Order: sequence, then C-alpha cells, then structure tokens
Amino acid sequence: MAIKLIIFDRDGVINKELKWVAKPDEFEFIDGAVKAIADFKKAGYVTAIATNQSHLSRGRMTEQDLTDIHDKMLTELRQHGGDIDRIAYCPTYDDNDPRRKPNPGMLLELMGYFKVSADETVFIGDYERDMQAGERAGCHLILIKNKHGTGEYDNMNPTLKEKVAYTDDLLGAYQIVDSWKNKSELK
Ligand SMILES: [Mg+2]
Repeated sequence: MAIKLIIFDRDGVINKELKWVAKPDEFEFIDGAVKAIADFKKAGYVTAIATNQSHLSRGRMTEQDLTDIHDKMLTELRQHGGDIDRIAYCPTYDDNDPRRKPNPGMLLELMGYFKVSADETVFIGDYERDMQAGERAGCHLILIKNKHGTGEYDNMNPTLKEKVAYTDDLLGAYQIVDSWKNKSELK
C-alpha cells in the first residue's frame, strides 16, 4: 500500500520546542524542516499536523494566537514550495480527551477527512506519546531524534520500539518514507 498522508507532530518536529510557543515570534523552524516539508509536497503527499496545544485551555494562549502562529508557519512553508493541508490541534489537558495524544483521535480524524487508511499514513513525532497515538491509529511510525526524542527512543516500550523508524530530523524522515515507496510490503 502506497503512503499518501504524512501527519507531523508540530513542536520538536517542525519547530523548536520551547516551554511553550504562544506568539508567532516564538515559532522558529528546526533546520531542514522547511525543505523537508517542501520535499514531501513536491513528491505528492498530503500533509497534516496533529498537535497537543493544552496552553489554550491553560489560558497561556488564545485561539487567535494559535491562528497567527500557524499563518506565519504556512506563509514561510508556501514561500519554499511546501504546505500543510490541514491542522488538527487539541486544546485540552484532559488525558481522557480522545483527541489528546497519546490517544489517537486527531490522527483518526485526519485519516477520515482525507479518506486514507492507516496503512497509507505515516505519523512523525518526537515523544513516545506520539508513537503511542500513531500505534493506536495503526499508522506507520517515525520518531525524530532531538533532546527529547533521544531519551524517548532509549526508554521506549520494546514492543512499540520495534514498530518505530528513527531519524535525526524531517529530512531523514523524508528519506525513510521515500525508501518505503519501493517496498511492496511495509513493516
Ligand atoms: Mg512534539
């Protein structure tokens, strides 16, 4: 089954993770992320983001702040041939919320919206809870190594770890997805 949909976690994958990003000027791309997302778009993939943004319900940021941050992100991506076709975010900090990762709700929502199966979907994140959400949704999984992701991989549940491809950044993630293109059967 060919991969059609690439879902990205946002913080720590596309942009540098701060304690929180609440204003557009706090949003800073990770090196290579803009090019990698352009590469995914040029190769014909549908792209989406699934991000936990509990800062909304904690009162650290408004919906307008989040819109402004994403407008800034999309402007820069589009200037370089990239794009994000849909953004899902979860505003709550209730771990029982089916949309809040590690629950799979946002991923299932995006797959439903684009009418693609889990086997046609890759989820790229930097925390074990991202990989748990992707596993529950049935997606292919890529973990990005960063100051969080390194430890996340080392300490990951072994059964989950077997299902996770591991790379330094989104440019590496693109190479992995590209290599899967030629496999008749994906892991
Ligand atoms: Mg993250």
